Amino acid sequence: CGIVGYVGLKPAAPILVDGLARLEYRGYDSAGVAVVGSSELKVHKDAGRVRDLEASLPKRFGGKLGIGHTRWATHGGPSKDNAHPHASGNERIAVVHNGIFDNAGALRAQLEEAGVKLRSETDTEVLAHLIEQAEGDTLEEKVLASLRRIEGTYGIAVIDLDFPDRIVVARNGSPLILGIGDGEMHVASDAAALIRYTRQVVYLDDGELATVRADGYRTFTQDARATTKTAKTVEWTA
Ligand code: GLU
Repeated sequence: CGIVGYVGLKPAAPILVDGLARLEYRGYDSAGVAVVGSSELKVHKDAGRVRDLEASLPKRFGGKLGIGHTRWATHGGPSKDNAHPHASGNERIAVVHNGIFDNAGALRAQLEEAGVKLRSETDTEVLAHLIEQAEGDTLEEKVLASLRRIEGTYGIAVIDLDFPDRIVVARNGSPLILGIGDGEMHVASDAAALIRYTRQVVYLDDGELATVRADGYRTFTQDARATTKTAKTVEWTA
């Protein structure tokens, strides 16, 4: 339903939670955030309200890069386990997803056959495991290889402890916006989540991906060809 992301010099969690609160008007049944800490990935999520998530956030939840999600359940009921972000088996990769993976059933069966223990009933979780298993030297290559196996609609954001400087995002049928800050970058599925921080935005097109780092972004196609984007100014009084 709603996606947010932040990479910069500030603690990510409060910014992510604030962004999620600004997406509440769209409706949701659960929410969660994940940050790349100094040596571990931290995930905090639950069914229920963003303000309860915020109130129950662990004290030690530092990290200057992270992603967040408000979920509107399609596969699996509203619960803590089914809430996003979903982590890979090695708990180094976390993903959030808007939309529906149509072939999730087949992919779940393949993963289970290969010995992967799934921890939720969602279509989304398969992506975290596919990325963990994918061949590739970079997170971008692993995400591209994984998306090639997926059919359906998505806006996704992915973080990986092995690439702690970046968020990789992709769009296919579900909106994704990059917000350009001063030494920081934001990601959101809806401008409402980021206009408090920046009015300079880039709208991804369907079939496009982006690498988002504190100092900027790079966009590319599913064939890994670079694309050129023009930033727009959001005129909006909220
Ligand atoms: N299909 C995913 C799920 O049920 C994402 C739903 C959404 O867009 O919030 O977990």
